[in-house]
Amino acid sequence: MVSRWRQQSDRVALVPTMGALHEGHLSLIRQVREHAGRVVVSIFLNPTQFGPGEDYESYPRTLAQDVELCRREGVSLVFAPDAKEMYGTGKGDYSGYISFRISRMTDHLCGASRSGHFEGVLQVVNKLFNTVQPDVAVFGQKDIQQWFLIRQMAAETDQPVEILMGPTRRESDGLAMSSRNIYLNEEDRKKAPMLYASLQRISAVLAEKAGHDDQRPVSVNASLLEAEYSILRENGMNLDYLTVVSTPDLQPADVIIPGRLYVVAVAAWLGGTRLIDNVLLNTNAG
Ligand code: AMP
Repeated sequence: MVSRWRQQSDRVALVPTMGALHEGHLSLIRQVREHAGRVVVSIFLNPTQFGPGEDYESYPRTLAQDVELCRREGVSLVFAPDAKEMYGTGKGDYSGYISFRISRMTDHLCGASRSGHFEGVLQVVNKLFNTVQPDVAVFGQKDIQQWFLIRQMAAETDQPVEILMGPTRRESDGLAMSSRNIYLNEEDRKKAPMLYASLQRISAVLAEKAGHDDQRPVSVNASLLEAEYSILRENGMNLDYLTVVSTPDLQPADVIIPGRLYVVAVAAWLGGTRLIDNVLLNTNAG
C-alpha cells in the first residue's frame, strides 16, 4: 500500500507510538500532515524497550479507541503488529543477534537508569523505518534523548527520512501529557506539574544570563539545580535526574555557551510512576 502511494508521488509520514493515544500523539499527526499526503501511525508496545520490572505488562492498551482517534484525524493507515509479526518470533526473546551499541549519547539522562531501553527503541524504529519507508517521521520533544538518538541513527544508517520534532503538549496546569499519567493518584497528580515549573525556573535564570550582550559563557551553578532538587524532594518526589545537557551529544553542561542549544531535563518518581519532562534552552545568540 505504501509503495502504491509512493508511485502516486504521495509523500508518506510515519508517527510511531505505543498506543494509549492522547492529545500529544494527535498533535504529532496534525503536524506531520502538513508535510505528507499520507500519514501512517504505528501502534506497537515494544517489549524490547522495557526493562525487567518496568511497566510493560501494565501499560495501558486501548487499541480500538486509538484506531478510532486515528480515523478521525484522517490517518491513512494504522500499523499495529504484534510482537511476533514485528520480530518473527513468538518465544518472548526478541533481542536478535544484532543490536545497536550506542556510545556517549546514552551515558546520561534516561540512558543511565534504563539499561537497554534505547537499544530497544532504535531496534524497533529502525525496523519501522525499513518497513514503512517514510519520507518524514515525527517524534516528540517530550522524549528528547530518544529524538536525538533516532536522528543520529537515521543519519548514520543513511535512512532517507526527515526527522521532525513535535512540541510537548501539556495539560492546563503544565504537566506534560503522557500515557503514564493515568497511573498517578490524586495527590501525586496535583504535585506533578511542579516538574515543569522547576524546569521553567532553571531555564529562565540561564536564558537571562546567557542573553546578556557580552556573549560570555554562563556557568550552570550547582546551587541553581540543588534549590530545585530540594523543592521537588520536599514534595515527595524521588529524582532520577535534574540536569542541563548540551546538544546533540547530551552531555552534562557546566557552562552555557550563547548560541548553542541545551536541554534542561528532569526524571522523577512520584509513587510508582516515573515521569520525564524537559525544556529547550535556546540561547538564540551568536
Ligand atoms: P509513546 O506512545 O509514549 O511512545 O509516544 C509516541 C510519540 O509521541 C513519541 O514521539 C513521543 O515523544 C510523543 N509524545 C509523547 N507524549 C507527548 C506529548 N505530551 N506531546 C507531544 N508528543 C508526545
